[in-house]
Amino acid sequence: MKIFLAEYLGFCYGVKRAIKIAKENADGKCCTLGPIIHNPQMVERLREEGVDAAENLSSINEGTVIIRSHGVGPKIYDEIKAKGLRLVDATCPHVKRAQMAARELVNEGYDVVIVGEKNHPEVKSILEWAEKNTTIIETAAEAEKFAPCQRLGIVSQTTVSGMRFEEIVLQLLKKSSDIKILRTICTATDQRQKAAMELAEKVDVMLVVGGRNSANTTKLAKLCEKKCITYHIETAEEILPEWFIQSENLSALKVGITAGASTPDWIIKEVTEKLKVYDEL
Ligand code: SF4
Repeated sequence: MKIFLAEYLGFCYGVKRAIKIAKENADGKCCTLGPIIHNPQMVERLREEGVDAAENLSSINEGTVIIRSHGVGPKIYDEIKAKGLRLVDATCPHVKRAQMAARELVNEGYDVVIVGEKNHPEVKSILEWAEKNTTIIETAAEAEKFAPCQRLGIVSQTTVSGMRFEEIVLQLLKKSSDIKILRTICTATDQRQKAAMELAEKVDVMLVVGGRNSANTTKLAKLCEKKCITYHIETAEEILPEWFIQSENLSALKVGITAGASTPDWIIKEVTEKLKVYDEL
């Protein structure tokens, strides 16, 4: 068996930074607002190290609150302050930039469109920073129906694909003669998707490692499925021998590994180690 790793995989800069900040503040009286990342194994590990995850602010009455990389709206900052809690902000700087871009556009008198997923926490946080005159658009069809306006400002969810953003912007260009576009996309998602697709084209089987509740990992699996046999796994324990040992020529079988931006390095390593065992059969 030949094992290949995607050129870009696993933790992005914002997630690495948020976890580092959480660990630095782990004192047993410290909570992230929502799971720090969409990876149950990492959330559990942090809990063991003294960083709990709370669903909402009402259940936190003392200690430190860590805002995760997705960010939150301004009201949450006020509520944390009002409750007398210590605040540690691990919002990814790229997300912060998108939040501030939306707010500035509104202050400059633009109607604002956020290109992104309506239910994503990051998009909700950008919407809350914009405060008013802001619409979330997910698809080109929605953009086509958007009512024309005098001045239109456009920002994006950081993890939107470049292609989706361009399709939507193309429609929105027809809606105003005064348009300001702030392309607040971060490259981490595009890099991981591109690298996964390139690898999936060259191998027989792809393993996509990451939380089933992680949107970016699920998306990687969907993209790889189009190119070769693909399995989405959370941990090395889920790997089944029959995926490989039925192969007529096991020694020549090419297996690719990729992982979402919320998948810890140690899980990727465990997957690689487990595959090496089959290699020795
Ligand atoms: S995907 Fe990009 S914007 Fe989101 S947390 Fe990672 S680095 Fe930050």
